[in-house]
Amino acid sequence: MSSPVSFELLAQDPASRARRGRLHTPHGTVQTPMFMVVGTQGTVKGLAPDDLRAIRTQVVLGNTYHLMLRPGGARVRELGGLHRFMAWDGPILTDSGGFQVFSLGDLREITEQAVIFRSHHDGSRHLMSPEVSMQVQADLGSDIVMAFDECVRLPATGPEVQAACERTTRWLDRCVASYRGPGSIFGIVQGGLDRELRAAHAAQITARPLAGYAIGGLSVGEGKDDMHDICAFTAALLPHDRPRYLMGVGTPDDLVRGVSAGVDMFDCVMPTRNARNGTLFTRAGRLSIKNARYATDPGPLDPACACYTCRTFSRAYLRHLYHAEELLVHRLLSIHNVAYFLDLMTRVRDALEAGTFTDVLQETLTAYPPREAGVRGVSSV
Ligand SMILES: [Zn+2]
Repeated sequence: MSSPVSFELLAQDPASRARRGRLHTPHGTVQTPMFMVVGTQGTVKGLAPDDLRAIRTQVVLGNTYHLMLRPGGARVRELGGLHRFMAWDGPILTDSGGFQVFSLGDLREITEQAVIFRSHHDGSRHLMSPEVSMQVQADLGSDIVMAFDECVRLPATGPEVQAACERTTRWLDRCVASYRGPGSIFGIVQGGLDRELRAAHAAQITARPLAGYAIGGLSVGEGKDDMHDICAFTAALLPHDRPRYLMGVGTPDDLVRGVSAGVDMFDCVMPTRNARNGTLFTRAGRLSIKNARYATDPGPLDPACACYTCRTFSRAYLRHLYHAEELLVHRLLSIHNVAYFLDLMTRVRDALEAGTFTDVLQETLTAYPPREAGVRGVSSV
């Protein structure tokens, strides 16, 4: 039986573990390694589908937790599924909702059967389980469906992390048994920062034949070097012929380091969230548009970027819009930041084909000397 989502490994970089591949989905074929754009509530904040297409977005993420609370999975299904609802005809990956419900702290209660939680909107009670997550993701019509997992907050102790891993495996089996939708399920490897637990859990999860495997439980507050050590360790345990997805990561330097560890897929709120804070990613490094020195600067945000914002507007104008709190600034800065992340991955893929990946890796690490790890949030994108 062929899976709705399948992976084709095209080339392996001789100098690192980086891979060049293609991912086939019910809504088209995309090129890897890739960055996927976060659209939590059925929209990439500030950007319309035309904007996303213009910057060559490949995959958009939707969030099960947010969409099940509002407007509801069944309603989206009645309206033709998430692709039609948000007018995005490319591939969609949906988060399982696990990360969000486990982030709710004392608003939730966990049992083997399900997580009972209170909505962050109005305090109303809801139930999330492997079966509910699969139902909502099927209702949304997602192409890449994430298994419902238990994500423990670091620093958690060994037995707590181990219990979460074991439950995640049992829940994966329930996800696979109950899913009836058009997409394919990816399993998630947990295990915190403990190599033994990571190895044991990777063995359990990869024993299940799935369309892809994700590295979960990272970018949750640990240090950058720990994150990359565990990412590389875990990626090496995943099957060669399946895509590998590092969830919720990260900054430009995180992406190229992840690629060199053999990761194929990434997502992060950083480009859109930072755009709204006036922090821009450029080939030369970070730039704060608020800075007084840009008040009279007629040049583009990033001379190396061909996005609409950089082709059309000056730094001085963008700074003016930012300080005047004009709505347009969110769209223009988001276009550029997302375009930067997508272009970085295009350069990575081109370099992998040309045998020059090390150059892009070094150039990116020079522009982005490793700092804080990217951290995901419950409702902020
Ligand atoms: Zn640009």
